[in-house]
Amino acid sequence: MFLKGKTAVITGSTSGIGLAYARAFAAEGASVVINGFGDAAAIETTRGELAAASGAAALYDAADMTQPDAIAAMIERAARETGSVDILVNNAGVQHVAPIDQFPDDKMLAIVQINLLSAWYAMKAAVPHMKVAGWGRIISTASAHSLVASPNKSAYVMAKHGLAGLTKTVALEVAQAGVTVNCISPGYVWTPLVEAQIPDTMAARGLTREQVMNDVLLAAQPTKAFVTPEQVAALALFLCRDEAKAITGANLSVDGGWTAM
Ligand code: NAD
Repeated sequence: MFLKGKTAVITGSTSGIGLAYARAFAAEGASVVINGFGDAAAIETTRGELAAASGAAALYDAADMTQPDAIAAMIERAARETGSVDILVNNAGVQHVAPIDQFPDDKMLAIVQINLLSAWYAMKAAVPHMKVAGWGRIISTASAHSLVASPNKSAYVMAKHGLAGLTKTVALEVAQAGVTVNCISPGYVWTPLVEAQIPDTMAARGLTREQVMNDVLLAAQPTKAFVTPEQVAALALFLCRDEAKAITGANLSVDGGWTAM
């Protein structure tokens, strides 16, 4: 349990990849702060499971990632109620798929706020705590779309490329403070977010569900297999180890070879 005594705040962790991060950190003894939307009873069950797994605190914070004040308040609450903010994982994300001339402005703004700006506000609030402690790990879930583009994903690709740039910049700023800043760029991971974009992609490209799965999603992945949330979380866990302290400012692909093409 190498994270005993440490606290991890994971945005967007009520499902998918974020929940896998929370489970991985809790299994190593970390206090965790989970965040995101969902059924209140299900979230409470998850919170209880995390506390039981870690033997440490597990908090739920409902901060909406479109609200800067709520993001800062979540970080301060984590520090107050658990004693520190050692690990920040910027993971909350949403998607919308449409050609740019049919892309609703409000959907574009929500993607930029949730997938990019929330990470900036969370880092701004968490870095002072990490500097004082002389140790910290900031990990953001970017995407293969932080490195390459796909049609109909202008807002998402814009936000994820921005997240990769933010990662590099803050890594340089805290390089001598014992804090590393990296992003992980998964290919297609089988989560509710991917499931939800299938109908839009069917509509945008006039394809069947099977064609979207095989010819659009897995078409990009040479392994022809979805990445699992646990594979992504395992890399995040490694980044928290002392052996990983020289890894900073990196954009680490977990994409079945997608961006090698
Ligand atoms: P998911 O839909 O399962 O999880 C998204 C999480 O974000 C949920 O907990 C949701 O409640 C939360 N969220 C959404 N809007 C929010 C808001 N306004 N405030 C707070 N929380 C909010 O999706 P996922 O696939 O696990 O995605 C997690 C991250 O991984 C995202 O940043 C996504 O872009 C990225 N990603 C996913 C894939 C994939 O194939 N699934 C690939 C690359 C990157």
